[in-house]
Amino acid sequence: MNEFGIIAKHFAPLAKNFDGALGLKDDAVILSPQSGYDLVFTKDALVADVHFFVDDAPKLIAQKLLAVNVSDLAAMGAKPVGYLLAIMLPKSTDDKWLASFARGLSVGISKWGGHLIGGDTVSHNGELALSLTAIGEVPQGKALKRSTAQAGDAVFVSGTIGDSYLGLQILKGEIKAQSEYLTNRYHLPSPRIDLGHRLIGVANSCVDISDGLVADLCHIAEYSGVGAKINIADIPFSAAAKQLNPNPINLITGGDDYELLFTAPASAQTAIESLAKELALPITKIGEITSGAGVVVLDNSGTDIGIRESGYKHF
Ligand code: ADP
Ligand code: MG
Repeated sequence: MNEFGIIAKHFAPLAKNFDGALGLKDDAVILSPQSGYDLVFTKDALVADVHFFVDDAPKLIAQKLLAVNVSDLAAMGAKPVGYLLAIMLPKSTDDKWLASFARGLSVGISKWGGHLIGGDTVSHNGELALSLTAIGEVPQGKALKRSTAQAGDAVFVSGTIGDSYLGLQILKGEIKAQSEYLTNRYHLPSPRIDLGHRLIGVANSCVDISDGLVADLCHIAEYSGVGAKINIADIPFSAAAKQLNPNPINLITGGDDYELLFTAPASAQTAIESLAKELALPITKIGEITSGAGVVVLDNSGTDIGIRESGYKHF
């Protein structure tokens, strides 16, 4: 099937409820922002053998591609509006693969919202590579940022940390264990859209954890011109993670959590607790923002373990 056939069969159905996408029959999409909202754009690329395994189920690859981008929108407090998908297909890709990939997109879009509104489809003599631009909307001037943490803020994290890291180690055979929960956490991140949106007016700063808890907290500290101190004893780990008795340092530097890490003044504590209840999502206080610089990680006995910056290095 040629490019146009692929677009018409597999991608156009995902654009049908978005008028400005013109059925993916024109050159580009037309997007009118709602009045009173800012548009937020982000792009993440996934490459075979780097970000996923070539023989991963196409449905999972599609959902992960959406999830990592939606997580960036969530970190800004934005809700998804649309996605532009660039897909670089190996020449051998068949229709069955594309159908399953499109189904994965459809599943992700129904979970997280938005529409497929455009993209580009090419084939090449290489492995599968994907790039997605996600567009979200957030009330004007209210987007959450990394650069606005205040000394004295408490540091919070959603969900549990390190599950995805452990899931990947299991899939690579480096940890001999079986846990569908952990491997699912690697394959199928749960971007915290509702939480991000509800943190508007509550949090002073926010980031999603892709590079690792410590590395992403370093981003907040550095760009806000503050320091941070966190306690390993307070960091939430899942029962499945604890069962493997891993080194907690690997869990907080591992990355791919796609949880939200945010800071808020002490006065917001009650609002955050009721938000956690309402969303049925654990939110845990793990430390505080200091007037210093850098991130200090304290072990169970309160000793600085000396991690300064660590996390996934992109190259
Ligand atoms: P052009 O050659 O003019 O750039 P294309 O043939 O690449 O146009 O694309 C035609 C339409 O299909 C455009 O609206 C484009 O955004 C959309 N499109 C192409 N590939 C994809 C894709 N993988 N996902 C979603 N939309 C796509
Ligand atoms: Mg094109």
